Amino acid sequence: MNLLRKIRNTGRVAESAPPRPVAEPPPAARGLCGSAQVRHVDAGSCNGCEIEIGMAFGPVCDAERYGARLVASPRHADVLLVTGPVTRNMAEPLRRTVAATPEPRLVVAVGDCALNCGEFAGGYGVEGAVSEVVPVDLEVPGCPPEPAKIVVALRTVTGR
Ligand code: SF4
Repeated sequence: MNLLRKIRNTGRVAESAPPRPVAEPPPAARGLCGSAQVRHVDAGSCNGCEIEIGMAFGPVCDAERYGARLVASPRHADVLLVTGPVTRNMAEPLRRTVAATPEPRLVVAVGDCALNCGEFAGGYGVEGAVSEVVPVDLEVPGCPPEPAKIVVALRTVTGR
């Protein structure tokens, strides 16, 4: 009972919803009808971007209220959130993950490393940026990108 009382007294802790993003959703997002199942793929990140993605789905930013939900398999996903430069070891798994995601699907590259290899550019274990390995529909720059920017990208996809 104490827990229930605390929940009732605390109320909603999420920030109030900012205005809907003005950017047009990518063409592949048109069939999603406001709801996107999201699979995160770490292709070689330092884990900084993962912390921010975790925050984007946490109670303050609460990306779920805009129709985005994390799922455990690419076979259940509409959207892949890919972080990090793509390492040599992750290039083929990333291609296979994209192939395993049903169409229409979107790939969102999250973080400077995903966009252009960032801090890891030229590293011996780096295959390249995400767009050099699989087609990318949306990019979220930053090192790491703020959770709010990740939420804006997800809202652009869901249109909510
Ligand atoms: S963009 Fe920054 S935080 Fe994200 S994986 Fe690269 S170095 Fe790490």
